[in-house]
Amino acid sequence: TELVRCENVARTYGKGVDAVVAVHGITCSLEPGAQVAVTGPSGSGKSTLLHLLAGLDRPTAGQVSWPALDDEPHGRIGLIFQGPSLLPPLDVLENVALPLLVAGRTETDTRAAATRALRDVGIGSLARKLPEELSGGQAQRVAVARVLAAAPRLILADEPTGQLDSAMAGHVIDLLVEAAVRLDAALLVSTHDLLITERISRHWEMHDGTLRKDAPCSR
Ligand code: ADP
Ligand code: ADP
Repeated sequence: TELVRCENVARTYGKGVDAVVAVHGITCSLEPGAQVAVTGPSGSGKSTLLHLLAGLDRPTAGQVSWPALDDEPHGRIGLIFQGPSLLPPLDVLENVALPLLVAGRTETDTRAAATRALRDVGIGSLARKLPEELSGGQAQRVAVARVLAAAPRLILADEPTGQLDSAMAGHVIDLLVEAAVRLDAALLVSTHDLLITERISRHWEMHDGTLRKDAPCSR
């Protein structure tokens, strides 16, 4: 069953003469195990597409559904963004634990899941550091651990490596791909980096708000 499905989806911002068609005519779906890199120029609609797939935004036409998630996407979708997204007053372990506590998991269970997720991304030793003490690559690995701790079925990452050097970017992408395989999740990553599209099996391209699926690989 598909984790997410878009049928002839459009999203327009504003009304009348000021209306901007951010995306239109989007039909796509992601099954468990799917790995997709989405590329396209700035303004082509990548962020809008991710927000729609995450259920953070609603289409102005067409339908987005999450058949395998009983159309209850919340809690089963992991989101990763480009910039710093950690809460400064909380240490690394607390940052990873917070969404699990909010979701109602017990403290014991949460501590185990958070500790394990940090170890899985290779930063178990940073558990008691504050975000301000981390490098950009370390902070982004914490953001990855925070998503993985919740065992999502759909992982959506919006230019997650935009602020990292290429070695760390490759490492973060490898962590996401490995985790998606382990969780039997679908992974969709938007990126400007062609080295990253090479690490991900499928390639979609956005252009002026439309989606071209299975664009040629850039190798
Ligand atoms: P990116 O190109 O990395 O997606 P942008 O700088 O285009 O980022 O957009 C950053 C944020 O601003 C996004 O949340 C987007 O929805 C919003 N945004 C983009 N363009 C506009 C606009 N013309 N008016 C208002 N908000 C916008
Ligand atoms: P990308 O992520 O590829 O840079 P976006 O999805 O951010 O593209 O933007 C697609 C188009 O929609 C752009 O023309 C952008 O300016 C516009 N847009 C995005 N968010 C908003 C917003 N909140 N209000 C108005 N226009 C927006």
